[in-house]
Amino acid sequence: MTITRADDRVMDLGKLFPADRFVCDAASRSAFESDGLAAFRAKPLAVVIPETADEIVAAVRWCFENDVPFVARGSGTSLSGGSLPVADGIVIALNRMNRILDLNPDARTAVVEPGVINLKVSQAADPYGLYFAPDPSSQTVCTIGGNVAFNAGGAHCLKYGMTSNHVLGMKVVTAAGEVVTMGGASTESIGPDYTGLFCGSEGLFGIALEITLRLLPKPEMFHTVLIGYDSLRAAGDAVSAVIESGLLPGAIEIMDAVSIEAAEAAVKCNYPTGAAAVLIVELEGPKERIAFERELLQRVITATSPVVQMIAKDHEQRMGIWKGRKSVFSAVGRLSPDFLVQDGVVPRNRLGEALVAIEKLSVDSGIRIANVFHAGDGNLHPLIMFDGNIDGMLHRAEAVAADLSQLCISMGGSITGEHGVGMEKRDFLAKMYDANTVEMFDRLRRAFDPKLISNPGKMFPGPEAPSLGMAGLHPLEKAGVIQRE
Ligand SMILES: Cc1cc2nc3c(=O)[nH]c(=O)nc-3n(C[C@H](O)[C@H](O)[C@H](O)COP(=O)(O)OP(=O)(O)OC[C@H]3O[C@@H](n4cnc5c(N)ncnc54)[C@H](O)[C@@H]3O)c2cc1C
Repeated sequence: MTITRADDRVMDLGKLFPADRFVCDAASRSAFESDGLAAFRAKPLAVVIPETADEIVAAVRWCFENDVPFVARGSGTSLSGGSLPVADGIVIALNRMNRILDLNPDARTAVVEPGVINLKVSQAADPYGLYFAPDPSSQTVCTIGGNVAFNAGGAHCLKYGMTSNHVLGMKVVTAAGEVVTMGGASTESIGPDYTGLFCGSEGLFGIALEITLRLLPKPEMFHTVLIGYDSLRAAGDAVSAVIESGLLPGAIEIMDAVSIEAAEAAVKCNYPTGAAAVLIVELEGPKERIAFERELLQRVITATSPVVQMIAKDHEQRMGIWKGRKSVFSAVGRLSPDFLVQDGVVPRNRLGEALVAIEKLSVDSGIRIANVFHAGDGNLHPLIMFDGNIDGMLHRAEAVAADLSQLCISMGGSITGEHGVGMEKRDFLAKMYDANTVEMFDRLRRAFDPKLISNPGKMFPGPEAPSLGMAGLHPLEKAGVIQRE
């Protein structure tokens, strides 16, 4: 291996960490070379594994002083290449920063380190009748730091909002090594919403060291219904009908026929047969209110001409419905060796139309697409299925993903709902926003990161092609949007 000047400097960084928490051998670094979007790969120079906030700050300051780029990494479940390392940079792996520092049931708050797993917060709050509302489908593995950086969502975000709605305050080390506090422990914060600004900044501002979360009381009861339709469009249109009725369910999710097939094969969820798509609607709240709302929901659903219905009679049946829904991402792996997960948004009242357009895209491209998504938010997650061993298939799948982003923009939606822009969709940022707006975003980012060393190459349109490791031209290269240098 050629030793470069950068490698020499990195050995200095190693002096700040015990040997078992400074990873620089090639084999161990391989474990960090991609995130959930495995098509992009880059081996970092080294990985450091801090156990205290002071160690994170020391690593960031070292990077700043030595002009070395770094990437904060939670569990690496990003599906947009957001935690892909920089080839000449450092990964700051936060999994050992996994302590819940304080849980205050009276104030309904939890102060956590960034590497705490999302589900662990709700588990710790459970004895007090509380929980943490944002629940990405990856909640058993993803970290609160990653949730903050992507402003993650989940099934319950229709009613309760995204991560940013549940973060009260934060201690942060900026990319320039300054430790700053944003927000506090109260729901009333002073001045502009700096905490909200950091949420969704995709690791470009620095690293969240400590996060104060809002906890909510657990709902008294749930009413969960699975409704089957004879077309995906009918399921999409039913979402508008439910929302127009004035109901605000805890969750509204859609699964199409491919997703149902995958879930049945993987977890035998016993969904009723004969539907081309199912809608899951879950009401939650006090008993008296649910008694009223379930009647209204029933009237609305009947008017949408469903082909089949199943109301969960007890906790076990409710869990069965959710088990099917939550299994889809991994279950699709049984139907296809590879798949890309898109994360786009369309206005909710155009869901049916968007789903028809996605079906057409699938037929025209010859690529199977499974749809499973947070329908109440208009947040689509088409799973684009392909076999990466077949020459050119990844590129064809990426072309379909690009068409989907374009579709969302043209319908007045967004290129991301909750998975971030990352590496994958950065060239679409400039299609969503005008040049002045993107420049203003860039100035904000430079205020936190004057040397552009924190997760560089993500979110903002850049000169390099996203998938440097792949053979052939990336579809965006072909279109002249990006270039390799
Ligand atoms: C099966 C599956 C299902 C998913 N379902 C959902 C879903 O329903 N909703 C949803 O929103 N997402 C979902 N995701 C995507 C992903 O799990 C989430 O976006 C999650 O928030 C990422 O957390 P992580 O710890 O894995 O972060 P990583 O992938 O490690 O990092 C993500 C980003 O956060 C930055 N980052 C990490 N920690 C910090 C920190 N402390 N400070 C600053 N920046 C930081 C990284 O640099 C990177 O930019 C899913 C992913 C998978 C694989």
